[in-house]
Amino acid sequence: MRYFIVLLVVLSSCKSSTDKEPELKTFIEIHNEAIVIDTHNDILMKTVDLGIMLDQDLTGKTHSDLNRWKKGGLDVQIFSVYSDGAVENPFALANRQMDSLDVAVARNPNKIIKVANSDAILKAINENKIAAMFGVEGGHMIEDDLNKLETLYKRGARYLTLTHNVAPSWATSAADETTNPNLPQKGLTDFGMQVIRKMNELGMMIDVSHSGDQTFWDVIKITNKPIIASHSSVYSLVASRRNLKDDQIKAIAKNGGVIMVNFHPGFIDSSFDGKEMAFLEKHAIEGDSLMKSRMDEFYTMDYLYKKYADEAELMRPPLSKLIDHIDYIVKLVGVDYVGLGSDFDGIVLTPLQLDDVTTYPLITKELVEKGYSEEDIVKILGSNFLRVLKANELKK
Ligand SMILES: [Zn+2]
Repeated sequence: MRYFIVLLVVLSSCKSSTDKEPELKTFIEIHNEAIVIDTHNDILMKTVDLGIMLDQDLTGKTHSDLNRWKKGGLDVQIFSVYSDGAVENPFALANRQMDSLDVAVARNPNKIIKVANSDAILKAINENKIAAMFGVEGGHMIEDDLNKLETLYKRGARYLTLTHNVAPSWATSAADETTNPNLPQKGLTDFGMQVIRKMNELGMMIDVSHSGDQTFWDVIKITNKPIIASHSSVYSLVASRRNLKDDQIKAIAKNGGVIMVNFHPGFIDSSFDGKEMAFLEKHAIEGDSLMKSRMDEFYTMDYLYKKYADEAELMRPPLSKLIDHIDYIVKLVGVDYVGLGSDFDGIVLTPLQLDDVTTYPLITKELVEKGYSEEDIVKILGSNFLRVLKANELKK
């Protein structure tokens, strides 16, 4: 009898809690409660090139700075460490960029902290600090030396983008493989395979953004951990060599990895490259003279788009184009294999509304409006990536 009464109480308390429909959370609440992770931001390149600091107010100059990340509800930033292939000592430059983050972290211990694993990420979030991690962009930065790879890992690099457009001697890039069909060898060399094995052994994620198709398939064959594409979108929607084809997306899902979609207009909107070409043609004389005065292509474009902001505004794709890429991956392989790899500060123009890092909540808003559940949105905003990071970490 006593048991019966207890059971009745339990049943009635269960009922009363389900009587009322739970209030739907706003997109802001979902965004704030989720762990928001961006796996690709190039601000460190600018801090070194332009002598700026990420704890300054850089509004109007860059897409990112410390206070604006906070405003955008970002929890984890993976900082891309990048040099183009022409630099003489890429490993030294990688270390300089890492130093520039370390200095900013040391100056702002209450706002941002360096982390090296998933536990430290959760601790940082609990302490209301931005968790900062490195990803090295371009295998050339290890200078064909596994010890240098290990040194970068020890400094906190948790992924290596195997190639940039310019590739190392041991892996071909998408640019190599598409512009030079007569390459004597495509994919990974023997040393390239050693790099992959070493990364698996260290617990460092393999990033296939920028990799050529053959390099991609060689990686899939030999990696024993899930991989990432830190900043790539969908080839079926925009046929750019920087995007992933359907069979590659399926292979990443099968491998348990994750694709972090890139915000670059040229990768998410197939009409953008034509518009950009027309813009550059219109301003060719000015562009040429800037390049002759030794401003490189990236900063020349940045200068021109800022100067002719009205024209640039008309070229920016709507935010919905970015969401289409997320949606495509979800429909193709499910919701567990997609996330955000903005490429902020590594791209010049962004989609409309996504002006800078304060605007991440608008992505959540679009996903809510598209009918995504909170559970799925949380995966896209960060938990999918966190799962892959954990799977790469060594068991303690
Ligand atoms: Zn890149």
